[in-house]
Amino acid sequence: MGWGPNKGRHAVPNMTHGEGVYLFDDKGNKYLDWTSQAVCSNLGHDLPEAVIEAAEYQMRLLPYAYGDIGQPEVRTRMNQLMNEILPGDLRAAVYPSSGSEANEAGIMMARRYTGRQKIISWYRSYHGATSNSSAATGDSRRWLNGDSTPGFVKAFNPFPLFFKPGGQNSTEAEMVESSLVMLEEQILNEGPDNIASIMTESVLGAGGCFVFPEGYMQGIRALCDQYGILMHVDEVMMGFGRTGKMFGFQNYDGVVPDIVTCAKGISSSAVPMSMVACSGEVLDFFEDKSIGWGSTYQGHPVAIAVSYENTKYILQNNIVGRVQAIAPLFESCMQRLVEDHPCIKQYRAIGLFGCLDVQDINGKNPKLQHEAAHDAFFEYKKEFIRQGLVGLHRYPHIHCAPPLSITEDELIDGFERLDRALDVLDEALGFHSNH
Ligand code: PMP
Repeated sequence: MGWGPNKGRHAVPNMTHGEGVYLFDDKGNKYLDWTSQAVCSNLGHDLPEAVIEAAEYQMRLLPYAYGDIGQPEVRTRMNQLMNEILPGDLRAAVYPSSGSEANEAGIMMARRYTGRQKIISWYRSYHGATSNSSAATGDSRRWLNGDSTPGFVKAFNPFPLFFKPGGQNSTEAEMVESSLVMLEEQILNEGPDNIASIMTESVLGAGGCFVFPEGYMQGIRALCDQYGILMHVDEVMMGFGRTGKMFGFQNYDGVVPDIVTCAKGISSSAVPMSMVACSGEVLDFFEDKSIGWGSTYQGHPVAIAVSYENTKYILQNNIVGRVQAIAPLFESCMQRLVEDHPCIKQYRAIGLFGCLDVQDINGKNPKLQHEAAHDAFFEYKKEFIRQGLVGLHRYPHIHCAPPLSITEDELIDGFERLDRALDVLDEALGFHSNH
């Protein structure tokens, strides 16, 4: 895909404004935002008044302060609020401007705290586009970085899509066990004393909505404790309510990481903003030391003011509870698409985050038939837009992640539009739909 105005073959509309879950283009078309942009515009496209006022107030009061010279007052309030919502003894530590930077800082902190270099992460993962965060990434976007950033080890997490460790009929419990056994083998072969952190998304986001099965995250926590490795959970996409919990890792009983990185939902992406939180012990370590990462815009007062009010809004309006309440409808609509569309192999969903896996007529990943699949997805994407939807596409997954503020009627309307777009994908992949 190119960077020109039409992004290669995929012409994108010129958006003029937004309202709720909708966006409008310069031709007067109205689109339902099916993936909250990059799973980040969590409150939709018109912000609560308090958020706008906070930005304006902070811009007039003190638009910028460099953290090492003087902290803006709003940062103290933000720290307090974050420390209230973070479980265990997790504490807010740094506020960079993007998810990639937060991961960059989290990786540096793990290395400096442990005095070790290696980072273990998954093949099925995305952690960002800067050098270390891209090297931690497992999906193909990391290839562009080549092997220029040493110290990153990849492991497989226990997820079947077109691959199951332990064989096609293995149960979830067996997969968890074999994945953890393999992981420990890797730790021992890499040398436990060389490994700074194990880095994982709480629920795989771009990689296709994989919720880790029972026992897996607890197993990682135990391996980290056993070998003195820090557990770094990347909440960039799942944090701030997407899964029906404030943080995605709260879906796994008893798991509290040592480092947590957030972005996107912390400000609903109205301003660039992210956060690194860490355990009190790690934070204390850095009391008199640099974390080894910094940027001019970290702790930006306006970004913090917006994120503070955004978080208050999420809490006061019980957005997390709303996500839990609408999740069963979301899931039943996804199930329906699996039943109605032969090109959809299966779905996975948690909260307001879901994924449909597309299959070819042989039940395989259509991407293996590269050119034919490319054309089929191109036809589908055109229909998707014609149906009045906009969203990110990462085939063979079709992500469903509308704003957390979506109503039931809007959600049903969105699924009906998607249903019609999938008729075209069925056809383009050589199936006949069940309609
Ligand atoms: N981690 C995860 C889990 C993400 O989904 C993303 C972005 N999609 C990032 C990190 C990188 O964040 P950013 O694009 O803000 O740098």
